Amino acid sequence: MKKTGIITCIECPRGCRVTVEQDGDSIKVLGNRCSKGEEYAIRETRCPMRTLTTTVRTTFPGMKRLPVRTSTEIPLKDIFFFMEQINRYTLKERLPHGAEISCGLPGDVRLIVTGDPRPEAGDPAHWEGSAGVILQGGRTA
Ligand code: SF4
Repeated sequence: MKKTGIITCIECPRGCRVTVEQDGDSIKVLGNRCSKGEEYAIRETRCPMRTLTTTVRTTFPGMKRLPVRTSTEIPLKDIFFFMEQINRYTLKERLPHGAEISCGLPGDVRLIVTGDPRPEAGDPAHWEGSAGVILQGGRTA
């Protein structure tokens, strides 16, 4: 059965609105200004990927959670599985911004510290408007 959808290409600031026609395994892309848009639309249709940005629990006094992101993009369909794994993990050491955390995620995906772990930085859990999960790349999940 033929399906048609529209995707905004995010490979460059032009943000072309690209039409994707899918008929079984066949994917036709229209409206892209360059080949990157076609590649992006096909990838986004077959297996959308996202960088997962979230927080991890810590044992630090005054800082219940620390902001992190995944070291690579992960399949959008696996986001909730990854969140379950991350929510089981507790960080016990104050690692610096940019440090990698190996916490047993599949595919050797690691977490990268994106927050400030210093005690004077305050607790991100109390930041106004902080979100539980942010997905970067492509359309909103
Ligand atoms: S299709 Fe090409 S020109 Fe258009 S947004 Fe994507 S990368 Fe940019």
